[in-house]
Amino acid sequence: MIRILATAFAALAGLAFGSFLNVCLSRWPGDESIIRPRSHCRSCGRTLAWWENVPLLSWLALRGRCRTCKAWIGWRYPLVEMALGGLWAFIAWRFLDWPTLSALPEPALLRESARTIGQAAFCWFLVALAALDAEYLWLPDRLTWPGMAIGFIYSIIPLPFGGTLAIFSFGHNVHLQAAIASLMSILAAAGLILLIRWIYKLIRKREGIGLGDAKLMAMLAAWLGLEGALLSFFLGVALGSVVALIVLALPATRADSEEWALQRLPLGAFLGIGGIVSVLWGQPIIAAYLRWSGF
Ligand SMILES: [Zn+2]
Repeated sequence: MIRILATAFAALAGLAFGSFLNVCLSRWPGDESIIRPRSHCRSCGRTLAWWENVPLLSWLALRGRCRTCKAWIGWRYPLVEMALGGLWAFIAWRFLDWPTLSALPEPALLRESARTIGQAAFCWFLVALAALDAEYLWLPDRLTWPGMAIGFIYSIIPLPFGGTLAIFSFGHNVHLQAAIASLMSILAAAGLILLIRWIYKLIRKREGIGLGDAKLMAMLAAWLGLEGALLSFFLGVALGSVVALIVLALPATRADSEEWALQRLPLGAFLGIGGIVSVLWGQPIIAAYLRWSGF
């Protein structure tokens, strides 16, 4: 019963934080304040009634259009809210598995609780960055740098009973060693993207991958270590390729394929989705891969 209630609470909290995130996602690109003015229609400027701010339900009730000017509100609002509500609910549900939890000694229980909060926070960053990159091809420094810093601090927080808070733990029990390993992971992950960016520029003679992607990779490494960042990268690239192939196969895009060849794919959005999969299932995937490859 508590598990169901707590999961429902996490889902509602996710919807609320997703709703707040939507305000940020609408206002950051234009460099507007996220506090003032109050929520209003982006088209006619009318201040929203309280019920029009209720996440998801108001969008459904209004069928995605402004009550007065009928302007299309957009898919991003319900999608971001559902994504965060769903992710937080899933994280809470998985964590609140009583037989497993009650068997844990107290220190491990504390660590797992703290890691769960970290996973939820990290997912908020990833949803924000994926949505911004999908919509504006923009991975702002105001998210990537703090995300990187919080992830780094988080993964090196020493616990009194040994180990760190890192979401993935592959050893590194000495604290200094954990900090150095985390820093090396961040640099290596960013370096990988910079290298690909440089090679791409050399061959195609134009920008293909932004610096934002390098910072996002660094952020993934800060939270998940190099293994987790690489897994996110492979998942993201695989997903991006599938989407690109589907888009290219559509008759509408085939007509002007020249133009499409110059289109930039939101690599950051795919990296973000790869990151979310890695947070949730990365450790078993990597463990299975290591077993399979005989390490
Ligand atoms: Zn309006």
